[in-house]
Amino acid sequence: MLSLRAFTTTKDLHVAGGIRQPMRSDGTSSLRDWLRSDLSASEVPWLAASVTTLFQSGPPGSKITVAVVGDGFGPQDQEAYNTAVDRLLTNGVFAQDFFEANKAAFNIVRVNLVSLESGVGTKTYGADGNLIRQYDRDTALGAYYNGDWAHLWVEDGPSTDARLTSALSELVPEHQLKLVVLNNPGGGGRGGNWRATVPLGIGWPTLAHEFGHAMGRLGDEYHDRDETYGDTEPTEPNLTTNTDRETLKWGWIVGGETPMPTGGDNYTPPKPSWWKDNQDVGLFEGGHGSYRFGVYRPVLECRMNSNDPRFCPVCASVMEGVTAKHLAAAPLSEGDGTGYVRLVVRLEQGVLRVLEARELDGPFVQPGLVTQGFAHEVRIGDRRVALGSLPDAGVSRGFSEIGTDGPREHVVHRPDAFDFVVRVASAELRGADLSELTVDLVSVGAGRGDALGEGPLREDPALEVTPIASLADLSVADLPTSLRRIVAPE
Ligand SMILES: [Zn+2]
Repeated sequence: MLSLRAFTTTKDLHVAGGIRQPMRSDGTSSLRDWLRSDLSASEVPWLAASVTTLFQSGPPGSKITVAVVGDGFGPQDQEAYNTAVDRLLTNGVFAQDFFEANKAAFNIVRVNLVSLESGVGTKTYGADGNLIRQYDRDTALGAYYNGDWAHLWVEDGPSTDARLTSALSELVPEHQLKLVVLNNPGGGGRGGNWRATVPLGIGWPTLAHEFGHAMGRLGDEYHDRDETYGDTEPTEPNLTTNTDRETLKWGWIVGGETPMPTGGDNYTPPKPSWWKDNQDVGLFEGGHGSYRFGVYRPVLECRMNSNDPRFCPVCASVMEGVTAKHLAAAPLSEGDGTGYVRLVVRLEQGVLRVLEARELDGPFVQPGLVTQGFAHEVRIGDRRVALGSLPDAGVSRGFSEIGTDGPREHVVHRPDAFDFVVRVASAELRGADLSELTVDLVSVGAGRGDALGEGPLREDPALEVTPIASLADLSVADLPTSLRRIVAPE
């Protein structure tokens, strides 16, 4: 339910203060007055919207673009929002260790949506899990804070996801990683499918841990219960049940003198004087959230264990694999015909459907590897034209709780359907023979995601791959109008 109100211009934001002039290669401002395309002007659920590029390392198609959006920030709260974004991202995650060193792989874009009311709605759940109180606020995205570990701390309202999708596809169409900041002082947060939602009460280390899940599908290295892991080998690259030095996933980085296993929460026998708990790698028992026994992690103290330390060498190498191709400097030229098409594809009840397509300016960098989790591939005939990883698609994960009894693990919720983004160079799609085009969604387990052959991903011998869904035998009539215009221009 959207109430009627007038759309105002970004001048309001200037009055509120805090808008930095964005950088663009052509010298124009990216601060855009903007109206949602799918709603009439009187139905826009925010007072004003503007976009500020906080950091641009290269053309959008060649970088991982992080889009941050606020909810529940009224006209008087814009400076506070900008300060929070600065604290969490610009001078938080991206001013530290891995993310600072790899900043050249990212662009960071801040979206200011001015809400009518200040603060987001709240929900309160009773001990039995039932909703006992709800306060609504008329905010840009209509999200809620519930402050409840079992309910993943924050939750969307009925139209939050649609409003976010609509806003970002207009304002930051090149986005990959989404961060939603709620105007509520509480802690916690949730993440999954390249999106994190956080209130104001968290620090950047928590967010950095969540980005480890989102980008690298790193597993949790914490281990808060006296339980024994009894499942098969974890697919996460930083967890294992294997104690054999020769075949260990991260055996390449373990010193020959290091005992296997190396201990639990302490190096056993007494550790060498030079041992660094965060950077020296062995085989330490405990991990995967709940298990003190039967599963192993690489170091005593990693960011995936307790947020504050940096990524251990094993986790860092996985994350570096994700950013590597995006690090190279690319010219900030636009409109040179090397653009790409951004497709939004939905998996629902085992069926893939292309929801929308949009053509964006190049240059464009296609990822060359996949990580564990979901991955997609687009082929035309026997050529691979798109590849991408969706490490944490299909889950929504509440942040772990630090309490008197130690951390409580992530609560995981599995949505029935999820959307993902596929990027294909425009030149590949223009005039393509649709009968030769296939889109595959697969689940990737163990293997060498950086050693792919030329053949179809679902048959690649370097990886354990389980097919999830395929889209083939397409005709022009199956495509959304936006994609028809690109594939078969009139
Ligand atoms: Zn680690």
